[in-house]
Formats: sequence, structure tokens, C-alpha cells
Amino acid sequence: MNGVNETWDTIIVGAGIAGLSAALYASRQRLKTLVLSKDLGGQLTLTELIENYPGIDAVSGLSLARKVESQAKKFGAKFVYDEEVVEIERVQDGFIVKGILGEYKGTTVILAFGKTPRELNVPGEKELKGKGVSYCAICDAAFFKDQPAVIVGEGEPGLEAIELLSKYAKPAYYVSRSRTLVGEDSIIKEVMQRPNVTLYLGYEVVRIIGNNKVEGIVVRNLESKEEVTLSVNGVIIEMGYVLKTDFLKGLVKLNEKGEIVIDREGRTSVEGIFAAGDVTDSKYKQAVVAAAEGVIAALSAYNYIREKKGLPPVNVDWKAEKKKTTVSLRL
Ligand SMILES: Cc1cc2nc3c(=O)[nH]c(=O)nc-3n(C[C@H](O)[C@H](O)[C@H](O)COP(=O)(O)OP(=O)(O)OC[C@H]3O[C@@H](n4cnc5c(N)ncnc54)[C@H](O)[C@@H]3O)c2cc1C
Repeated sequence: MNGVNETWDTIIVGAGIAGLSAALYASRQRLKTLVLSKDLGGQLTLTELIENYPGIDAVSGLSLARKVESQAKKFGAKFVYDEEVVEIERVQDGFIVKGILGEYKGTTVILAFGKTPRELNVPGEKELKGKGVSYCAICDAAFFKDQPAVIVGEGEPGLEAIELLSKYAKPAYYVSRSRTLVGEDSIIKEVMQRPNVTLYLGYEVVRIIGNNKVEGIVVRNLESKEEVTLSVNGVIIEMGYVLKTDFLKGLVKLNEKGEIVIDREGRTSVEGIFAAGDVTDSKYKQAVVAAAEGVIAALSAYNYIREKKGLPPVNVDWKAEKKKTTVSLRL
């Protein structure tokens, strides 16, 4: 599997929900599919429960990822973990995908390597990740209903996060290095008027406290250096996300944020390279959106290969299945 003598129909970079969904659809289309990833599940594993995936009441991110991985494996997709892709080179009839463990050749590539939330890099953060420390207010604010919790944030994402958290948490703290709230006036007004909100503007985080679950946070005034300890059950960090797309510069088109620009069919600026999920310039960064984009990218890769072989593109997989049902009904 590790080598350029073998050619894969598609190489998927990343085994988050976008890459896994792409693997499921690519392998079901009988494409020879290879997934290269640093880990299984990606950001899904940063949250305890996913409660807004259609059709599922609540599921742990890791079990959702394992389920889709096993579905894809059933159709022949191969997975290599602990592999970090660092370069992609265009060659005749495809691409060489270079990782730290090896090099792989693919006719098409699907980039689905997500985003990494920006971390505070303070003591306690790493140890309490998924145990009260989270990086997604839209996903996790509701877990802190009637409990003390804090948003550590910057700019508009931070403001929107405290606006949301303050609908649930009591008290809801907002800690920001910035000395003013930044964002829409109406949202600022709403946040300021909520009695359960306390703002710590011009403060930085010193450490997060807790033994196997978050119990508090220590913050420090940037000017006076005075430290304050807040008792909280949850710390939601909304400092934006880090995109690690530098290695793609000069290959595919990136926007000003470094996100991969795609069209509605998951195509990048380079023929044969597709992208899906949080790594793209799509606006809404949610699991179901990433999954759907993975599916689109896989079907587009499939059609690209068909076209290269002089075959007409097909629309969707279920057409074949429907045909089978129709035949059996007639019998
Ligand atoms: C704390 C938290 C809670 C969330 N909760 C929810 C929720 O409840 N509901 C919801 O819909 N969404 C939620 N989200 C958002 C959702 O998780 C993401 O939108 C979604 O998981 C993105 O999937 P992805 O596959 O695009 O990327 P990712 O999940 O980021 O996966 C990327 C994968 O690529 C791998 N990778 C990265 N770089 C490389 C490389 N160079 N080479 C090889 N592999 C690489 C990573 O290891 C990872 O496996 C949450 C996000 C966070 C952070």
C-alpha cells in the first residue's frame, strides 16, 4: 500500500466525518480508495456528544466516526493512520501524495483534512479537553444549562459565543484580551443586558483547573496583573481555527483565510483534486455539512474518472439500486 507503484483511484486526506463520508461513497462506487489520516474522527472526537446529527438523538463523535469507517471498510476502502500529508505533487495522470510515512499515487485526491481549533496553550487545557474544555459554542453551549461556564474569545466569534452561552449558563462569564466587545451593536446590547453575564475584558487565561473535569479557570488582568479564579464547569474557547493549508500554496486556489476554494461539486481549481468539509471555504462548519461535502467530492471524483475514460457522468448511486427494486417488483 505504501508506494507509488500502485495507483489508487482516489486518495482521501483526512479521516474526519468529511473524509470518512467520502471514503464510504467512493468505495461504494467501486473506486480503489485510500484514506491517509493523522487520526480517526478529527474534530468529532473533541466533543463528548453530537446531538444535532439528523436522525440520531445523541452519539459520541468517536462512535459515529468508527461506524462510518466500518461502513467504508466493508466496501474495500483502505486506511493508513498516523500519516500526515505534507506535500502533493502533480504528475502525468494523477498526483503523488507525500506523507511522513510514505508516498502514494492517486488518479484523484480528495482533501478533507479539516481545521484545528486555536488553543490557549495554558496548563490544564490539554488534560481537560472533552472533559469540560471545548472549542465550539454552537455545539456545546446547551450542555451548560443552569451551570457556571465561561467563553474565552476574541472578536465577533467570541461575542456570538457569549450571546449563545448566556441563554443557558448561570452565571455566564466572558473572558477576552480585548478591552471592548467587538461585533454587531444589537448583539452587544443584548449581552450587556443579560443579568447572568459577567465580562472580564482585558484579561488573559492563566490556567484551567480540574481533576478529570473542569472545576475552574484562573484569569489575569493584563494591566494590574491581578488574578481572579472563577468556578466553572465548562470552558469554551472561541479563538478561531488554524488552517494548515500552507503546503497547498501554489497548487490549489486558497481564499484569504487559507481555506480551499471549491465549487458546488467539490471541485478545486485543479482538475482531479476535490475538497470537502471544514478545510473548504464553505460557510457552515458542522458535521452534517462536512459529511455531505465528502459525499459530493467522492461522486465528483467518480465522475471525473469516468469522463477521463470517455464514459458519460452519472448522477447518483441510488439510480442503480432503484432499478433493481423496480425489476424485483415486476417479478
Ligand atoms: C468541540 C467541538 C464540538 C463540535 N460539536 C459539533 C456538534 O455537536 N455538531 C456538529 O454538527 N458539529 C460539531 N462540531 C463541528 C464538526 O465537528 C466539524 O464541522 C466536522 O467534524 C469537520 O469535519 P472534517 O472532516 O471536515 O474535519 P476534521 O474533523 O477536522 O477532520 C480532519 C481529519 O484530517 C486529519 N488531518 C489533518 N491534517 C492532516 C494532514 N496534513 N494529513 C493527514 N491527515 C490530516 C485529522 O487528523 C482529522 O482526522 C464540533 C467541533 C468541535 C471542535
